Amino acid sequence: MERRAKIVATLGPASSDEAALAALLRAGADVLRLNLSHGTPESHRATLRRAREVAAELGRQVPVLLDLMGPRYRLGQLAEGPRRLRRGERLTIGDPGDGADLPVDDPGFLRHLRAGERVLIDNGLVELEVIAKRGRKLSARVVHGGPVATRKGINLPDSKLPFTISEKDRADIAFAVEEGADYLAASYIGRGRDVEAIRQEVLARGPAIPIVAKLERAVAVEHIDEIVAAADAVMVARGDLGVEVPLHQVPVLQKRIIAAGRRAGKPVIVATQMLESMMEQPRPTRAESSDVANAVFDGADALMLSGETAAGRHPVEAVRTMARIVVEAEEYRRRVLEGADAPRDLSRLASHLGTAPRRPDLEPELAGAIEIADVIAAAAVHAASKLDDSVIVAFSQGGFTARRIARYRPLVPTLVFTTDERVARRIQLIWGTRPIHLDREVQHRDDLVQVVERELLIRRLIRPGECIVLLMGFPIQERPLTNLLRIHRVPRG
Ligand code: PEP
Repeated sequence: MERRAKIVATLGPASSDEAALAALLRAGADVLRLNLSHGTPESHRATLRRAREVAAELGRQVPVLLDLMGPRYRLGQLAEGPRRLRRGERLTIGDPGDGADLPVDDPGFLRHLRAGERVLIDNGLVELEVIAKRGRKLSARVVHGGPVATRKGINLPDSKLPFTISEKDRADIAFAVEEGADYLAASYIGRGRDVEAIRQEVLARGPAIPIVAKLERAVAVEHIDEIVAAADAVMVARGDLGVEVPLHQVPVLQKRIIAAGRRAGKPVIVATQMLESMMEQPRPTRAESSDVANAVFDGADALMLSGETAAGRHPVEAVRTMARIVVEAEEYRRRVLEGADAPRDLSRLASHLGTAPRRPDLEPELAGAIEIADVIAAAAVHAASKLDDSVIVAFSQGGFTARRIARYRPLVPTLVFTTDERVARRIQLIWGTRPIHLDREVQHRDDLVQVVERELLIRRLIRPGECIVLLMGFPIQERPLTNLLRIHRVPRG
């Protein structure tokens, strides 16, 4: 069975040469991510171009997601090297020039902190509490001690620190526009307006790039729906999220964020430590295997590998392993929904698992106004569920219709035709959707059916006697949003 949830693989030293890139794509990577927190613009440029070449050689549409570093705060140079902070110790934080005990890189943010707020160092391993402001410095008390060293990251979970676009992010946005990135991930955003600020920064430099909003700050969690509405896709960035909010809340937040994305018809990526032990070992832990399957049951559109593919010892095996777990989980979901595999007391689980060929989830909770495309998408999914052996086919100019169909989680494949190669790549992130790039415009409705039938037969995506459930905008020349549903049975021989 074809996999529906997509795999995002982060590139790094373990996966940047041609052979490794081809192996990752063959193993099942659908989207490639470059983490701009590491590496140089030159190395990213070279990797991105190589990735595009390899994808083209394999005849694949592969989007590249560039992940901005965001406004990160870090310790400055510790003059006497690494040191250990002890519980109860009092110290000052500030500009090294002011003689602070703990220097920070860019002390401007300190003025936003208030007494009682936490300052977390090195992924939350060390915790300080602000006691008071002392001129340009802060005095603080060590709540959880531990080692600290130059450049360790700082998280400020209690602070409403306003979002700022750093100079590095500005340069990286220019780079993303120049290289025609397919997605741009916005780190450390707190509100919908922060996503909009990144979008404007992109538009000031060139054509739009869809923005993936990373939910990883405590303040962002208070504004999930607003952020989802402002973004084109979202990421449950569990690494930083697990530092900013108590770890026991992360699984529930994952469900809430996925549900919010689904309501709005925006893809959700679940990220970080999914198969972490595969950095070293050729097989994952049982807990990791369950984590991947549960993200599928939660309804994630895509699952992400970070260090596993960027710097791990088994990058290709990590993708293959993830793909196998996803397929197994999706097969179970299908069987549960068909009533074939679920004990009776689990039957209510079905309502959480999405839809089935014969019982499509045609009434998911939807956010925002219902568009004609939503009604047509629901009708198409319903029609496909009633017909044996059918595929859903849509024509999409920007991916909107594809996202609307995915919201109903059809179990028959969704194939999306587009004449825009960038759109074809971007569609690859959407759950259960496969893009087909057409190199010419089609002018007439009847030609369209013939073109679709021919392309699907050539690609062996349909057989004579099967049905094409086709969504399109009519009249074609006016390029309206989807407003027409046509069902065509491919003639038998
Ligand atoms: C995360 O924090 O989970 C994440 C994906 O972001 P980054 O890899 O940039 O830390």
